[in-house]
Amino acid sequence: AIEVADLHKRFGKLEVLKGISLQARKGEVIAIIGGSGSGKSTFLRCINLLEMPTSGRITVRGEEIALKPERGKDMRATDRKQVERIRSRLSMVFQNFCLWQHRTVLQNVIEAPIHVLGVPRDEAVAVAEDLLRRVGLFEKRDIYPAYLSGGQQQRAAIARAVAVNPEVMLFDEPTSALDPELVGEVLKVIGDLAGEDRTMILVTHEMKFARNVADRIVYFHGGQIEEQGAPDQMFEAPRSERLQRFIRAAH
Ligand code: ATP
Ligand code: MG
Repeated sequence: AIEVADLHKRFGKLEVLKGISLQARKGEVIAIIGGSGSGKSTFLRCINLLEMPTSGRITVRGEEIALKPERGKDMRATDRKQVERIRSRLSMVFQNFCLWQHRTVLQNVIEAPIHVLGVPRDEAVAVAEDLLRRVGLFEKRDIYPAYLSGGQQQRAAIARAVAVNPEVMLFDEPTSALDPELVGEVLKVIGDLAGEDRTMILVTHEMKFARNVADRIVYFHGGQIEEQGAPDQMFEAPRSERLQRFIRAAH
């Protein structure tokens, strides 16, 4: 579904991603773990071009994003239309929800299907209501985000992300801004999605959750993939000393 090859990203002198290659097959759930500053968020942001990579290749559903290398600078996308199209296939869920505050829950969910994908309004509303039912927010559909709990806002953001039927869903620590008692309800929604043959790349500090839902765990250290493997292998028998230490500290 998505293939990233030799991705590099610099911020000035600081090289934050030092050649990341990662492929996610259709339906695969990948959890990225790693210490603060290891480049996890930057990696997700480069995948959907919220940040421009300095070099590397990104291919979504067989279509490589046209990126032009620029000497000493980040790459430049040469095909605006393509970027919009590919962005609309990758939906991202952020730590702090990022809902449109001046729109109701339902309006948040139908916005992209109608305005980006050109889905007729009736159809978009029907799909959105169905999704909101599934995340337990049907009764809140006409409420503004400010009146929702953090867990409800994040569930709305997830419904919005699913509504475009994305090729890949990207999650950047979707529960780390939540009060502990609200984490479970959001993890439950993400876990349900993971069981539905959706391709997901999920950055998380919830180790138990990562172990339960992911097909593969990828451990970032210093802007590189230090180790990756099946969840049981990564947690029970990590090879690299850094990962051993990381896992011990997470318990
Ligand atoms: P965390 O677990 O704390 O979220 P992370 O693995 O997501 O960490 P990133 O946010 O990707 O880490 O940051 C990696 C490095 O890149 C950090 O040293 C950070 O300071 C730096 N960085 C990130 N964004 C920028 C930016 N826009 N300009 C300059 N430096 C940046
Ligand atoms: Mg981060």
